[in-house]
Amino acid sequence: MQVVKKIDELRNIIKQEKIKGNKIGFVPTMGYLHDGHLSLIKKSKEDNDVTVCSIFVNPTQFGPGEDLDKYPRDIERDMKLLKENKCDILFYPDVKEMYPNGFYTKVTLSILTDKLCGKSRPGHFDGVATVVTKLINIVNPDSAYFGMKDYQQLLVIKRVVEDLNLDVNIVGCPIVRENDGLAMSSRNVYLTEKERESALSLSKSFKLVSQLIEKGIKNPQEIKQEVCKFIETHPFTKIDYVELVDIDTLENLNELKDKFLLALAVFVGKARLIDNKIFEIK
Ligand code: AMP
Repeated sequence: MQVVKKIDELRNIIKQEKIKGNKIGFVPTMGYLHDGHLSLIKKSKEDNDVTVCSIFVNPTQFGPGEDLDKYPRDIERDMKLLKENKCDILFYPDVKEMYPNGFYTKVTLSILTDKLCGKSRPGHFDGVATVVTKLINIVNPDSAYFGMKDYQQLLVIKRVVEDLNLDVNIVGCPIVRENDGLAMSSRNVYLTEKERESALSLSKSFKLVSQLIEKGIKNPQEIKQEVCKFIETHPFTKIDYVELVDIDTLENLNELKDKFLLALAVFVGKARLIDNKIFEIK
């Protein structure tokens, strides 16, 4: 695996690969890799000749008081995992390389980003949209792979790619979970053993929603209240949001649709965890 820290060097390598006719797949991450990230690498390897993974903890997507400084990092372990999973190129720039003169241009959306995580993390999606646009311009991949775990992020990136005519195919990949249902996340490392038990309330609430729907409950507000009540019975939890929304616009639902997204963000101890599920009512 080639480890590249400089933008120019990466561009040269990619140019050579493209001359050879090779297809490039790209997996952007913030590191502290787990099987969720590795599933994206696997998918990229299936679809492409060369897979590039980036590890960059992007400061512009963290708000004041968030966990930028504490965000878990272990580059040695990450490199070992990437090598084992036969990633071809790791792009590992430092902040100066990505933002050499500060930063005066950003990618801002006028839809999607005022909802869900955008409400509680103002500016977060500007940071995400900007860094992903920069990374796509640097790597110039044929396809880029993103997890549905960050469902809103995936919609935001698809929108940016369409609106700015970026020449890349965006691929959304399923959420990878621990055996007990907890969605894998780099932030799970913040959880104590007891908090981790409470963290299961997020994925367990999906079953509750299915049961409520089977019982014939059709009012999104009522379902939301039941989910909140259920999560709040677990110690260490503090709900940021529980929403039933349209899968394309992320607008809140007044009445249940055949297909909708349940999106959750819950603080469990110090960790802010997100999870989601698309429900289809037959
Ligand atoms: P992050 O390092 O958290 O920025 O995540 C990098 C990429 O991995 C994003 O596209 C995430 O959506 C994806 N990802 C993170 N956790 C999971 C998971 N449990 N399953 C699938 N994809 C994931």
